[in-house]
Amino acid sequence: MESHVVVIFPHPDDEAFGAAGTITHFREQGVPVTYLCGTLGEMGRNMGNPTFATRESLPHFRKEELIAACDVLDIDLHMLGYRDKTLEFESKDEIATNLLTYLEALEPSLVITHYPGHAVHPDHNAFGAATIEAIKRMEISKRPKVWAQAITNTRFEDLGQPDVSLDITPYFTKKFETILAHQSQAAGVLGDMDPSIEKLADIIKTKLSTEQFYTWHF
Ligand SMILES: [Zn+2]
Repeated sequence: MESHVVVIFPHPDDEAFGAAGTITHFREQGVPVTYLCGTLGEMGRNMGNPTFATRESLPHFRKEELIAACDVLDIDLHMLGYRDKTLEFESKDEIATNLLTYLEALEPSLVITHYPGHAVHPDHNAFGAATIEAIKRMEISKRPKVWAQAITNTRFEDLGQPDVSLDITPYFTKKFETILAHQSQAAGVLGDMDPSIEKLADIIKTKLSTEQFYTWHF
């Protein structure tokens, strides 16, 4: 049984699409979960469907959506305040130092992050790499386990089968509610131009019914 799970991703909605089922699995066991969210996703292209956000108002909406999603999941949230789409240009060393402060305070038994180099978006890769770097700096006896999420199409060829695979069907409702909390993103990310609730539910059921991770070996 885990004592505390810390999820470290750069964008509001990474937790929803990538880990909401896994998070619910832990919350149902009474395990505390904390989300360290790197940015407010303020440079995102999705502005709602139908459109309701503008470039100026997007950060406000995404912050509210992130808070709502974390309420649905019943988890703690820290917004780290980095700028969206710039994490690859930040110093990995400095981000790692910042993350380490949180990890030393929270003392997680498990950290969930992106698999550096296999997570498609440069922010995902950079934040995953900084997370691994932060944990490397911890004493071996104090290091949490790390589950790294790869999302490239070639992940199975490149990395083999993930050793952690959760069927999240039992947690579907929570995952769906968490994704819908990200109102400005849900339809756009799921690739549906004409979203009905039923259609979105179908896409999530067929495409996002498992959440998979690779245990990181230091
Ligand atoms: Zn993302």
